[in-house]
Amino acid sequence: MKRPQRRLPVQRVKQAATYDVAEIARLLGSHRNTVRRWLKDGLQPIDDARPVLVRGAELKAFLTERQKARRQTCAPDEFFCFRCRAPRRPAAGMVDVSHRTATVVALAGLCATCGTSVHRTIRRAALPSLAETYDLQTLAPERLNGCSAPSLNGDRKGG
Ligand SMILES: [Zn+2]
Repeated sequence: MKRPQRRLPVQRVKQAATYDVAEIARLLGSHRNTVRRWLKDGLQPIDDARPVLVRGAELKAFLTERQKARRQTCAPDEFFCFRCRAPRRPAAGMVDVSHRTATVVALAGLCATCGTSVHRTIRRAALPSLAETYDLQTLAPERLNGCSAPSLNGDRKGG
């Protein structure tokens, strides 16, 4: 069994403070790239200006929800959206599949409600049943094993 990720010291975050990416990384003992991934995953900066600044209250809420979400089980065909802070279906049923290990694949899509990237990892064995619900796009060169190739008629270029 893989050990669960170490709990972040969320209590160090001051609600009223404002942090940039480097400060958040230092405060929580995380890598700056991890903080950048949180921003992609729905952590809301104050505005679009650089450097990116995040309110302590928002950071705290995001991390608390995230730790809760790790314990929360989405339905097999749902993704947890950190911006909506709820399980969501992927937009247009489109899901990208990339291979992690022999037994685990990573899924990525866009939240149908807010458009934020959503991710989850599932057992490879669960893929064929998901292929019945979603338009799976395999990103790795390797083809899906044990299920017929989905027809890729859908043009993913948005207008
Ligand atoms: Zn969302």
